[in-house]
Amino acid sequence: MTIGTELLLGFTIDTNAAELGAALSSVGVRVVRRTTISDRADEIRDAVSQALARTGAVLTTGGLGPTSDDITKNIVAQLFGAELEYDPAIWDALRERFRKLGREPAERNRSQAEVPHGATVLANRWGTAPGLWLEGTPGLAILLPGVPAEMRGLLRHEVVPRLAARGAGQPIISATLRTTGIAESSLADRVAELEPDLAPLSLAYLPGADGVDLRVTAWGLPPEEASRRLSEALALLRERAGDHAYGTDGEDLAAVTLQAAREGGIRLAVAESCTGGLVGGRLTAVPGSSDTFLGGVIAYDNSVKRDLLGVSGQLLSRYGAVSEPVARAMAEGACVRTGAEAAVSVTGIAGPAGGSEEKPVGTVWLATAVRGDVRASERHFLGDRSEIRHRAAQAGLFMLLRHLRYYLSR
Ligand code: AMP
Ligand code: MG
Repeated sequence: MTIGTELLLGFTIDTNAAELGAALSSVGVRVVRRTTISDRADEIRDAVSQALARTGAVLTTGGLGPTSDDITKNIVAQLFGAELEYDPAIWDALRERFRKLGREPAERNRSQAEVPHGATVLANRWGTAPGLWLEGTPGLAILLPGVPAEMRGLLRHEVVPRLAARGAGQPIISATLRTTGIAESSLADRVAELEPDLAPLSLAYLPGADGVDLRVTAWGLPPEEASRRLSEALALLRERAGDHAYGTDGEDLAAVTLQAAREGGIRLAVAESCTGGLVGGRLTAVPGSSDTFLGGVIAYDNSVKRDLLGVSGQLLSRYGAVSEPVARAMAEGACVRTGAEAAVSVTGIAGPAGGSEEKPVGTVWLATAVRGDVRASERHFLGDRSEIRHRAAQAGLFMLLRHLRYYLSR
């Protein structure tokens, strides 16, 4: 349960909830419900009692600070019928922390040294509000501060080890196959008939701007069996997804593309118009890219396409900047001007203005050149300017990867 009016108003993004979900499932705690509530006493009381009635265990973040909106501890203490008791050790630790900063704690910090009777104090080395672990007739309540760095420190060092030691259960483990350039529904057509064979693993289709991730999850299996089943499942899914599969888990397409080029002794360049450097940015974000990526040209204006990439003025005026001949000439120009063996070019209309009936917003021409062999492809992306640019960069990288793989497999 994440507590804080700022979360409900949308001012603060609830990152704690996501981190908690990942950390708890890693030690086999099944999260069955997530709630976000305001800093109001009646709402906290209702929500905590309901959560305890539902599963017997609740973890909260927020409302442990020294200010008037920090009331979680008092309310939970009431629910457990536990008096608050002043703990001089916490007060000393607080004073010590302030002393290091050359300050004295304020009188209002004193409330942070009050502990519900019988609670275990989880020492907070990252801030002032300690976490609390309460067990009693209503069940188990774990209270953590809202500040993400403090929440994270306590979660990793105090909460997760305690839950693991209780033998919470088998960890919930997932593995992800990353795909791109194929719609979720087409992917489902290829994968659907496989779904029964994946049991007892569950399968999720997770579409995003980079493509569709296929995530398989093992619930409550012994770790060795889980990892064997997960890798078998990934192999099956990879076969179905064909060359749309480019990696697993957190792997990035740019890193995979760089590696393919590196293995083939091919150096890369880019020529970018509507993506304005996004492809180059993705490639250079990968550590070690300098041995394979040479550089490129952000050719936004036609004069730059002409002068720095050698695209002929005649092509530009006859076909327009967003066209197959110009995309091809840009990719070839990037190779010629940088000395790279392969390049990708992107030229399109990211909007919101600049579209026409013939070339609506989202029209993008991509081209790849690999040792003189040039290919081009017209795409139509949906979304706002930022999504169109992001999808165009991803599609350009994917086209380059496919072209490299084809060239290297010959
Ligand atoms: P609190 O412990 O309730 O005083 O929260 C302190 C600060 O932590 C808030 O001002 C927020 O900026 C941040 N915070 C609280 N809850 C969350 C949450 N669930 N996710 C991310 N940040 C949070
Ligand atoms: Mg708060």
